[in-house]
Amino acid sequence: MLRRTVTVTAAVLAVILGVQAGAQAAPTPGSPGAGDVYYPEYGNGGYDVAHYDIRLRYHPATDRLTGTTTILASATQDLSRFNLDFALATQSVRVNNRAATFTKQGDHELVVTPARPVARGAPLTIVVEYDDIPSTVVAAGFTSWNRTPDGALAVNEPEIAWWWYPSNDHPTDKAGFDVSILVPTGVEAISNGTPTRWAVPAFGGWDRWSWRQDKPQATYLTFLAIGDFDTYQDTSADGSPIVTAYNTRLDAATAAAARTSVERSDEITDWLAGLVGPYPFGARGGVVTGAGDQGFALETQTRPVYDGRSFIRGSNNSLVVHELAHQWFGDSVSVGQWKDIWLNEGFASYAQWLWSEEQGEGTAAEIADYVYSTVYPVDDPFWQVLPGDPGPERLFDGAVYDRGALTVHHLRELVGDEDFFAILRAWTDTRRYGDGTTPEFQALAERISGVDLDAFLQEWLYTPGRPDRGVSTLSVPAEPKSWPKIVAAHH
Ligand SMILES: [Zn+2]
Repeated sequence: MLRRTVTVTAAVLAVILGVQAGAQAAPTPGSPGAGDVYYPEYGNGGYDVAHYDIRLRYHPATDRLTGTTTILASATQDLSRFNLDFALATQSVRVNNRAATFTKQGDHELVVTPARPVARGAPLTIVVEYDDIPSTVVAAGFTSWNRTPDGALAVNEPEIAWWWYPSNDHPTDKAGFDVSILVPTGVEAISNGTPTRWAVPAFGGWDRWSWRQDKPQATYLTFLAIGDFDTYQDTSADGSPIVTAYNTRLDAATAAAARTSVERSDEITDWLAGLVGPYPFGARGGVVTGAGDQGFALETQTRPVYDGRSFIRGSNNSLVVHELAHQWFGDSVSVGQWKDIWLNEGFASYAQWLWSEEQGEGTAAEIADYVYSTVYPVDDPFWQVLPGDPGPERLFDGAVYDRGALTVHHLRELVGDEDFFAILRAWTDTRRYGDGTTPEFQALAERISGVDLDAFLQEWLYTPGRPDRGVSTLSVPAEPKSWPKIVAAHH
């Protein structure tokens, strides 16, 4: 009510004084969402984040997390108020060196009102202090913070940041990150990017671990793995630090199998770079959790996190290929809308088909035939899920992966190998550290190939039922040797 009166007064005043209305418009609240059609309240409007500095203290015995996160942002409008996405109990918020008022709206929106409005283009320095037991905090009906027998994992998609740092939680607002955490001596705390402090004794019984990500990173791709890990450090040929970590609860055979795959991350990254263009980040590696700790692998930036269960039956290089392919498709070039998820999963899955071909375990074409005609017969409900618009409940449906990869393969058949790989390299080059949507991908692919892809993408991404591949399916293709490993990589 009060705000509306003020707005009218300002507008009237502007007219009386003959001032341009735009220059004198009263500051307004930033939008509570970033405009995502699947998740309207994820992310926020009114500001753009450049950097997060996250300083934490965590004790595995109590699951108590205390933290101070400093956000460097700039206002993109004259801002009276703005939202952060955050679920933990908050002690204080300061904006540009003044105490701000704040209230929780729903279970994951923190509404912040600065003491003074912030002008468009002006710096916005936000300091949030918090203290909570994250495993007890429910937001949107679940808890993504995952307490394990020896620590905790903050690894999930799309929702994870809410349980450990306040943010503008949408892949379209990327930022640099410094993550620094105190844990009891003997506990490891692994995150993204370059380690800048490795278990440095801080005070009686506590060590500090610090990590720096200087390339733009989406909030959901920022992770923490805290617990008892065997760690390895090396340096890549390009000078990047390689950090790998394996939970000590893994049995010896599983730990060995995990190492035979994850220790090849550097080599596999270089192989992918040869196909799709330069590796976009300055650090490498991987983390393997205890078996069953999280139940999936995630392409957390520079350092994917794998569930130890993925290596119980032996090495799984195909899974490593999938998560490392995401470093280009998903991490460096992120989804502009969550409904574009096939741009992540279809391409990461297709990289596994290319790896299979490289290893002599079945060509991409053989896998495409097998998936199309044998894995999913024409009457399989699989064909009813639309990879280009699966809906938030089916964001990680098998169709997003397998029909997504089939779509990629069909594109390759339509445009030919030369244009196909040129499209992949142009996509990862022109949108590096940014994001993209399906229409933007289509426009680029059409420009490079000169082929009208409208009918093809409409049928493969947005039409229920099995698309026509224009091939005979009378013969039943044999199962490619790589198929069981490819299947095992699904989230
Ligand atoms: Zn994936």
